[in-house]
Amino acid sequence: MSAVIDIKSLTKTYIMGQTQVRALRGIDLQILTNEYVALMGPSGSGKSTLMNLLGCLDTPTSGTYHLDGKDVSKMDDTELANIRNEKIGFVFQTFNLLPRQTTLENVALPLVYAGLGRRERQQRAAEVLESVGLGDRLDHRPNELSGGQRQRVAIARALVNRPAIILADEPTGNLDTKTSMEIMGIFEEIQNRGNTVIIVTHEPDIAEHAHRIVRLRDGETESDELNEHIIRASDPSHRYNQA
Ligand code: ADP
Ligand code: MG
Repeated sequence: MSAVIDIKSLTKTYIMGQTQVRALRGIDLQILTNEYVALMGPSGSGKSTLMNLLGCLDTPTSGTYHLDGKDVSKMDDTELANIRNEKIGFVFQTFNLLPRQTTLENVALPLVYAGLGRRERQQRAAEVLESVGLGDRLDHRPNELSGGQRQRVAIARALVNRPAIILADEPTGNLDTKTSMEIMGIFEEIQNRGNTVIIVTHEPDIAEHAHRIVRLRDGETESDELNEHIIRASDPSHRYNQA
């Protein structure tokens, strides 16, 4: 199977006045369609920087990034925005919902940019909200929802364009353990439906849901391993090979 994400020697240096922060120092990473990857590492190791590059929210300082075979590392802002709308759903730790808009309006918003008519936007948004268990919260505003519900809205918004890749940067960072596990259940469903899922997390319990765990340290890949725990449980042939 070919890699939907193929990154070679990727670097990102932030320039802040006289100082340079070398956030990524040469990352190589290939991710296959329908993989479920957890990205871990200490604070400041470059996880969010990498996610922003993967999500076409930013461009690298050097190196290449092929997304579905297209080199996106040198695209301009307009081209990046188009690729992002077409292929990527992004979920943030802080939800990033518009406070004055209803649940339905927040989720329907990406479809405005996609050029869909109002009725179709609302119908699609309502369907996705139903699928994340919020069919009865369409008219609520973010401050009328719990943290877990807000994150469900944000996930629905990320899904509404039907992107192939879902990226989530510490999606459970602001949630309690029980709510975190519910949210992780949703990501598992998304992966089961055929999406590629990449999640940043600090919590080993959450990373355990993923099939593969990539660890960053100081802007470099420290380790990149299959999650044997999951692989063995889900694939009997593996068990014989290991025995
Ligand atoms: P993580 O998500 O693993 O905590 P980040 O990718 O946010 O790490 O940050 C990696 C390094 O880059 C840190 O030293 C951070 O201070 C720096 N950094 C992140 N974003 C910016 C930015 N927009 N401008 C300047 N420096 C940044
Ligand atoms: Mg971060």
